[in-house]
Amino acid sequence: MDSNCIFCKIIRQEIKSYKLIETDTVYSFLDIGPLNEGHALIIPKYHGQKIGDIPDEYLHDVLPVAKKIAKAVGCTDYNILQNNGKLAHQEVMHVHFHVIPKDENGGLIIKWPTK
Ligand code: 5GP
Ligand code: ZN
Repeated sequence: MDSNCIFCKIIRQEIKSYKLIETDTVYSFLDIGPLNEGHALIIPKYHGQKIGDIPDEYLHDVLPVAKKIAKAVGCTDYNILQNNGKLAHQEVMHVHFHVIPKDENGGLIIKWPTK
């Protein structure tokens, strides 16, 4: 863990987040700047900037958790995205996977709280 990293602080509950699913190796929560309702992030509980820095055992739960989030959100279509490095539009330098619902018809049941 990195003491200055925003996402490490979220894992340690030092920064508030809207938690979704947590396992021994990953933590998931709603994105503070959602591209759509239910936009979630899944992060390994291991500090690494890029996917190649993360031991495999911290990646095993990522897709199973992404599947559960998409099901809970209730969306029909969605993207799972993961950016590595500034040229690839990574802003937070702790590996994270976006789960972005793309449901034109609404029906998304979780959103960032308004207060
Ligand atoms: P990136 O561009 O690095 O792939 O995406 C970083 C994402 O992290 C952005 O979508 C941004 O809204 C989200 N984010 C940044 N800081 C925070 C935070 O403190 N809390 C939450 N929940 N999301 C954050
Ligand atoms: Zn970190």
